[in-house]
Amino acid sequence: MAELGIPRNTIEVLQKYHFIFQKKYGQNFLVDPRVLDRIMDAAEISREDCVLEIGPGIGTMTQYLAERAGEVVAVEIDGNLIPILQDTLSGYENVRLIHQDILKMDVKRLAEERGKPLKVVANLPYYITTPIIMGLFEEDVPLQSITVMVQREVAERMQAGPGTKEYGALSLAVQYYAKPEIVANVPPNCFIPRPNVGSAVVRLRRYGTPPVQVTDERKLFAIIRAAFNQRRKTLANSLGNAAALGIPKEKIVPALEKMGLCAAIRGEALTLEQFAVFSNLLSEQDS
Ligand code: SAM
Repeated sequence: MAELGIPRNTIEVLQKYHFIFQKKYGQNFLVDPRVLDRIMDAAEISREDCVLEIGPGIGTMTQYLAERAGEVVAVEIDGNLIPILQDTLSGYENVRLIHQDILKMDVKRLAEERGKPLKVVANLPYYITTPIIMGLFEEDVPLQSITVMVQREVAERMQAGPGTKEYGALSLAVQYYAKPEIVANVPPNCFIPRPNVGSAVVRLRRYGTPPVQVTDERKLFAIIRAAFNQRRKTLANSLGNAAALGIPKEKIVPALEKMGLCAAIRGEALTLEQFAVFSNLLSEQDS
């Protein structure tokens, strides 16, 4: 089977099937063998692994994965790509192709049936990067790692720490579940068609247990969301204004002071650990 990572071969397949790109599905096909090799190295794929690939496109990365993994489960939403994939993946017996929307799939069951944590590897459709990644974490899918191509800006937000402009609710949510690491920056000319933004490959190594202990996970994430909803405000004002949180204003400042933080601090200055302690203090006061 032709190496689809070479632009000429991808174009040939697209022409053979008169394929029309669907913008709504975020279709930008990767055509750079060096980037594909870099992704394989970062994901550390071996024959022991069951890999979930989200959005195989015409099967370029799927072929790379199938050469290295024990099994590849590739989930594609676009029905027009299914006959193409059946062709490009015909020689690979360890690939299972599923025609479905990943957001509607029971990935947890897929992992449980395999009896081992999955590795997720993908060039993600950018319009649903966050729901896909947070869905995998929040539904507690058994995972070893997620190695994915995303918009560079999103990768930077995942990896950011306190006090930077990229730091926000996404950084904290991702870092609660996994250790993020940007492993490659990828320019638009590595794709057909070219996206309007730069891309990056980020590897998220799933923690066995979160790096901080919280008594009420939902409360922690509600506080984080409220803190960054009104980024320019102090943490006390942001939380005090978020009626749905149900935290009385008069409890917020004493909790901050107990932590040795100033009452006028903004959410963007707090580490994940500090958010966890703060959330635990407010939970104690509830009980
Ligand atoms: N993996 C291919 C590559 O690297 O060349 C294609 C990547 S392209 C950025 C994203 C792929 O995800 C497309 O094939 C698109 O049709 C598919 N896709 C978009 N939304 C999806 C969804 N909700 N569930 C499954 N696949 C989806």
